[in-house]
Amino acid sequence: MLHRRTLKSAIASILLLVSGSTGYVCSQEKGEKKTMPAAEMLATWLGPYGGVPPWHLVRQEEFVAAFDIAIAEAQADIEKIANDPAPPSFENTIVALETAGRTLERLSTLFGVYTSNLNVGPIPDIERTVMPKLSEHEDKVIQNAKLFARIEAVYQSDEYKKLDPIQHRLAEDRYKQFVRQGAKLSVEDKARLSKINTRLASLFTDFSQNVLADEQSYVTWVEDKAELAGIPDSVVSAMANAAKEYKKPGQWAVTNTRSSMEPVLAYASNRALREKVWKTYYSRGDNADKHDNNGLIAEILKLRAVRAKMLGYETHAHWRLERQMAKTPQAAMDLMLKVWPKAVARVREEVADMQKIADSEGAKITIEPWDYRYYAEKVRTAKYALDFNEVKPYLQMEKLREGMMWAAGELYGFQFKQVNDLPVYHPDVRVWEVLDKSGSHVGLWYFDPYARAGKRSGAWMNAYRNQENVTKPITTIVSNNSNFVKADEGQVVLISWDDADTLFHEFGHALHGLCSKVQYPSQSGTNVARDYVEFPSQLNEHWLSTPEVLSKFAVHYKTGKPLPKELLDKIEKAATFNQGFSTVEYLASALIDMKLHLAGDAAIDPDAFERDTLAALGMPRELVMRHRTPQFSHIFADDGYSAGYYSYLWSDTLTADAAEVFKEAAGFYDPKVAQSLHDNVMSVGNTVDPAEGFRAFRGRDVDISALLRFRGFPVN
Ligand SMILES: [Zn+2]
Repeated sequence: MLHRRTLKSAIASILLLVSGSTGYVCSQEKGEKKTMPAAEMLATWLGPYGGVPPWHLVRQEEFVAAFDIAIAEAQADIEKIANDPAPPSFENTIVALETAGRTLERLSTLFGVYTSNLNVGPIPDIERTVMPKLSEHEDKVIQNAKLFARIEAVYQSDEYKKLDPIQHRLAEDRYKQFVRQGAKLSVEDKARLSKINTRLASLFTDFSQNVLADEQSYVTWVEDKAELAGIPDSVVSAMANAAKEYKKPGQWAVTNTRSSMEPVLAYASNRALREKVWKTYYSRGDNADKHDNNGLIAEILKLRAVRAKMLGYETHAHWRLERQMAKTPQAAMDLMLKVWPKAVARVREEVADMQKIADSEGAKITIEPWDYRYYAEKVRTAKYALDFNEVKPYLQMEKLREGMMWAAGELYGFQFKQVNDLPVYHPDVRVWEVLDKSGSHVGLWYFDPYARAGKRSGAWMNAYRNQENVTKPITTIVSNNSNFVKADEGQVVLISWDDADTLFHEFGHALHGLCSKVQYPSQSGTNVARDYVEFPSQLNEHWLSTPEVLSKFAVHYKTGKPLPKELLDKIEKAATFNQGFSTVEYLASALIDMKLHLAGDAAIDPDAFERDTLAALGMPRELVMRHRTPQFSHIFADDGYSAGYYSYLWSDTLTADAAEVFKEAAGFYDPKVAQSLHDNVMSVGNTVDPAEGFRAFRGRDVDISALLRFRGFPVN
């Protein structure tokens, strides 16, 4: 599936220079008197596996002081490199940067989890204080003239020409990164740029906190169970639990998140309830109240446009795309606009099918956006005799987790062993050790599956520590995070097919991190071009629907019987069902993102821009963007996916083409193809150009027809 918010938290994307972390040395034993504030949070990580995150030592009230110390230390690291009396060399400049600022990086990892997974209590305020400081620090590094002079000297040296290809790429990336971020600007412009970046950091934080506030404060309350007709029992009981958490036992709460909204929209026969839930969800950040994001967006766009101009680029989109696989906004637009009309045409067919059913039932309605998912389910049942509620009892979260681990064992030789004695930040978090075929330690995988107050919606992967081998081998620590609704005590967590897909998707990112075998941390694991990073994760979704996984792991939670073959056949037959909807809702967001960032410094009213642009594109009125502008955290909670939401389609084009390599061979478990995927894609991180890595695996450049086939669109 597309559109998952992934990996980097706002923090991670701010810390450009940071790399992996070292192992852990705690400066003091537990119980000893503290001499320095925040010392335990700043210390190297102790424990097995080269050290693990010390969640038990985090004291939230010390974050701000800790950041002040860690930033000062990172600055000192940078000064040391900049003022090295030895002439600049690859080793004393480029490699030295790879290992600078380790303390800050470790602290940011801890704090990043608090802002993403536990954003409650004092954290929102701390985040508002810390983010501008980090932005300022980053600018100081980029704008350090002595440091840049050394990087430039290496880039222009004879040594540079003789570096091996991987080192050459590292030095080139570092030099270009500094230039792209303003290292060559005049002193006055550097100061202006810093101001812009710091202001943006504040605006990003405000934006995401507004979205979170609207997700937590707008709840649709239901007092009469009859109003929930059609909604599966497991969802209804989750709603009752949610109401209890809000101290309203005996009622039902539809919280304002995607995982709560989607089942209501798909199954509630109560049309008024669907409309209410739909409107509440798609109004996040757009309620003309104190959490309204429109003003912030206009300012963010303006500042981005000014910044791009200062840096010598036509627009923010041109600046962002330069180092991606697509390279230009035009290339990204071309791909999107090739797929768009086919997807819109498919929506017309889907709506016609739905309208027919509504008419035959005598509903006397015209399909509205809050009807789409509901009638789509009816069409699915009518056309394919496939009711996903029949599938759900076979989709136990824990079993599927075992299934994805099993598949990773088949493909990459990994074994997973749960470990119970490591610190975690919440009792729901569990940890597995990952071993290779020979039983050697590969890394750790943290799993935080359930929704909770203060947890960002959606699902994502995060690396607590990257694999590297600069001064010594360091293994990776990765995490997967999602928002599954927790079952009652002693009950099995059943998830939807889409959620199962998400599970495999995020695990694909984790595997990308776990397979990494590189020397330099900034080239490690998922530190690749934004429009390439979703390729390994989207590809991993394909293993969910392999008969090997389904027959062993999609087993009925009561009978233990595997998913019946006829149900499996139906799922396969319906694979391209509703692709009009999912492609259009995604592409509408991706196109708006790109167009907003191609508009230059024009004053923009986000709501009007969205409305007019969609009208010009011929957006079908029966559905809405997956992420409307005022809630589009991918592009406004940090620079991360700005002018980059197209990346999912770009990566999916690679994914569909790559999947056909397996199909053309002995299938999805073909050992030779798996080895080639590992060697050319999964293990190489950013040591090679993504286009080259893909070519080495596919045997040619990417071809879009596989994507069109995969989505069931006409190829010509
Ligand atoms: Zn992803």
